[in-house]
Amino acid sequence: MRYFRNEKGFTLIELMVVILIIGILVAIAVPVFNSARQSAYDRTCQANLRILDGAVETWKAANPTSPYPKNMTELEAALVPDYVKSIPVCPMDGDSYTVTGDGNTAPSITCPNEHHYK
Ligand SMILES: [Zn+2]
Repeated sequence: MRYFRNEKGFTLIELMVVILIIGILVAIAVPVFNSARQSAYDRTCQANLRILDGAVETWKAANPTSPYPKNMTELEAALVPDYVKSIPVCPMDGDSYTVTGDGNTAPSITCPNEHHYK
């Protein structure tokens, strides 16, 4: 059975149609991929913040007389390596989290890229 007018290969029009279809598929796939990646960054960052908050409370339960960590240096000294292996960073660009606190209440650990879980 013959599908093409000649059997030497594809015509320019056939090739252009195939390229056009591939282009349309890529145009659909790229935004979907980007949004899935962004969503993965958000969820990973939220999980990091939740883990740090949980680790601070676990540390506080074991050290009830010590004041809460007030900045990143104190947080790292308190938690690494007994409560977390290392202090995680935002997966989006590797930025460090910001730790602020007065020592009396649990510190506020925030992402510079506006990721929140609370
Ligand atoms: Zn983040």
